[in-house]
Amino acid sequence: MFLKPTRLAVLLATLLASLAAVQAQPRGPVREIVPLTGDLYRARNGNWYAVFLVTPDGIILGDPINPAFATWLKDELGKRFAVPVRYVVYSHSHFDHAAGGAVFADSASFVGHENMLRNMDGRYPHMPGDMVDRNRNGAIDADEIDIPTKAAPGICGMGPGFFETIDRNKDGLVPPAELQADIRRPDIVYSERMRISLGGHTVELIHPGLNHSDDATVMLFRDERVLFATEFLADALVTTNPRSLPSACSAFDRHPLSEWIRSYRTVEALDFDRVAPGHGDVFDKAVVTETREYFEYLVAQVSAGIRSGRPLAELTESITLDRYKTWANYDRLRRMNVEAAYLNLINQ
Ligand SMILES: [Zn+2]
Repeated sequence: MFLKPTRLAVLLATLLASLAAVQAQPRGPVREIVPLTGDLYRARNGNWYAVFLVTPDGIILGDPINPAFATWLKDELGKRFAVPVRYVVYSHSHFDHAAGGAVFADSASFVGHENMLRNMDGRYPHMPGDMVDRNRNGAIDADEIDIPTKAAPGICGMGPGFFETIDRNKDGLVPPAELQADIRRPDIVYSERMRISLGGHTVELIHPGLNHSDDATVMLFRDERVLFATEFLADALVTTNPRSLPSACSAFDRHPLSEWIRSYRTVEALDFDRVAPGHGDVFDKAVVTETREYFEYLVAQVSAGIRSGRPLAELTESITLDRYKTWANYDRLRRMNVEAAYLNLINQ
């Protein structure tokens, strides 16, 4: 078809304008909704994942992640489904999974393990990685974020510049309430187990014990035979290979390794086929058992080393964990795992 010059110019201008619009889009995390089975879906924000179940009476959501993601998700859910979010369940209280719930507050109740209330009562909360109250002033200082970030980039701390994003009033200090400003407190808490029944579906909530956090909830979608858990079954370093050495920051998050193993065993005792983790791809239940066996092997090896009386510096060389050579992050984290297990075990 022949186009008159004026129309061609308009067409070109339109094309260029739309090209500019595409290029001007901010490069945010990849967001998508991925069907799991039946009415169960994952929702993705980069390498952070939420999960949701659609019932005739409303949606049960695991983790809002952050305000921008939650806003995007609410919009997507509104386009695809005729029912609102009725429950927001928190996998744990850490700011990188639990923020953003407020956008669902018009229709939803918020559910978490009872220790979440302790972590949100104004005192220094349990924090991920190696972020701890080093100077015991009850507030988060730049050093408490920056030192772990520099010491173990991407493992034990946040990305560079993270402190500036949480210091909203730019006074150089972040009291817990400032860090948690976007985390909606749970209205419903439980101690061991809880059941949510909605629209003919049942979701079991289980507190597995102490591990990466002290207020974890795993969600068992019974009919779908899928478990949602964040961090302690597969941590933030996991992407495609769930067989991965744990990050082991802060001597395993300052929780006894016996508690970690108990947490894995609690999950193994549940009846399901697949894990939809908070980080990385879906994996089979067998990996939960393999990872618990890894923890038991690490404890056995390091315990024997401690009994032998040899110093830590020797043990980090001699305990090679050879049988896990093919696991992800072996080269990066083997020594760190031995050292963390040593510190964990001698403090028990
Ligand atoms: Zn966490």
